[in-house]
Amino acid sequence: MTEYFQEGKLAPWACHPEQSRGRRVPEEQPVGRTEFQRDRDRVIHCNAFRRLEYKTQVFVNHEGDRYRTRLTHTLEVSQIARGICRMLGLNVDLAEAISLAHDLGHTPFGHSGQATMNDLMSEFGGFEHNRQSLRIVDWLEDRYMAFRGLNLTFETREGIAKHRTTYDAPESADVYTFCATNGPSLEAQVANLADEIAYNNHDIDDAINAGIITLDDICQEPLFARQHERVVALWPNAPLRKQLYETNRRLINYLITDLVQHSLEKLRSAEIRAAEQVREMPEDLIGFSPETRRESVQLKRFLFKRVYRYWRVERMGAKADKMLREMFAAFVEKPALLPPQYQEMMPGDTPRERARVVADYLSGMTDRYAIVEYKKLFDPEERV
Ligand code: MG
Repeated sequence: MTEYFQEGKLAPWACHPEQSRGRRVPEEQPVGRTEFQRDRDRVIHCNAFRRLEYKTQVFVNHEGDRYRTRLTHTLEVSQIARGICRMLGLNVDLAEAISLAHDLGHTPFGHSGQATMNDLMSEFGGFEHNRQSLRIVDWLEDRYMAFRGLNLTFETREGIAKHRTTYDAPESADVYTFCATNGPSLEAQVANLADEIAYNNHDIDDAINAGIITLDDICQEPLFARQHERVVALWPNAPLRKQLYETNRRLINYLITDLVQHSLEKLRSAEIRAAEQVREMPEDLIGFSPETRRESVQLKRFLFKRVYRYWRVERMGAKADKMLREMFAAFVEKPALLPPQYQEMMPGDTPRERARVVADYLSGMTDRYAIVEYKKLFDPEERV
């Protein structure tokens, strides 16, 4: 337990809502909630947030109801980020707003969907889900009278733009001049690492439940094996299903504790006295201890090789690739096939302008919407 947790106070290095750099369109101060709480509420009320429910994390949505979707992944990230922030005296609401928005820009069909979109958009500036998340909250969501987008605070937008993990392209950090000159807030750094803690753990759980790997397989990984050994020592006759759950919860707890301890040491030795000072630091201050970092990287490599490259995951990826490519080509060739509201979004008729709007439409689709739309476009028997 840290002093910040016990006293429920913000540390000097936290982002304070009163010191926010504000919104692009100035608004009156919210009543009964802070600026960052308002950001969080706007994210939860947007269309893109609800679509996360039917977007693939790793396992395609229709393969089973118990696997993580982008929505449940997002909720896990947010929960972990809030816990870490409470321990470090950071702004819980800001980390929550960033976490809830961090995957809004994800395509249907998981990472393979993003790889396809990036390839299709390579001539037109590429496609990257962090940038797309920002495009959603800044422009694509269109529901308020006074502004386009959600008009979020600088700090939340910065956290979305600077979200990065090993698998995500880091380029988004420098494409935005609005936050290009300095490092992300500690709350944004926490959201990044909460993402990593969440997916490492839930992908183990989902992969074992899907029969892709076994408990023995994952026990090759020291990070997991150490926690598992303790569980077996305490409950030698427990069923595997419960061993897995107990090990995962201990592993999440271990990673959070390691991260909090190591980050506190770094914050203290860097003598951080204000949030602005954090932005001038040459490197992130939130992080695991070197040993845990090494083991976490190793675990990610294992998951990459054994889970994300598993033949059934690859097979779904190939199907997704085919559907997205064919729809992209059809819409760019003939924008008249697009729903009218997307046709209206095209500022002009250059290939670049067409492609960007088609990318907005395709990436906004849920898995099931994309499958239905594909059939409507190409299956003569299907109603259009
Ligand atoms: Mg994520």
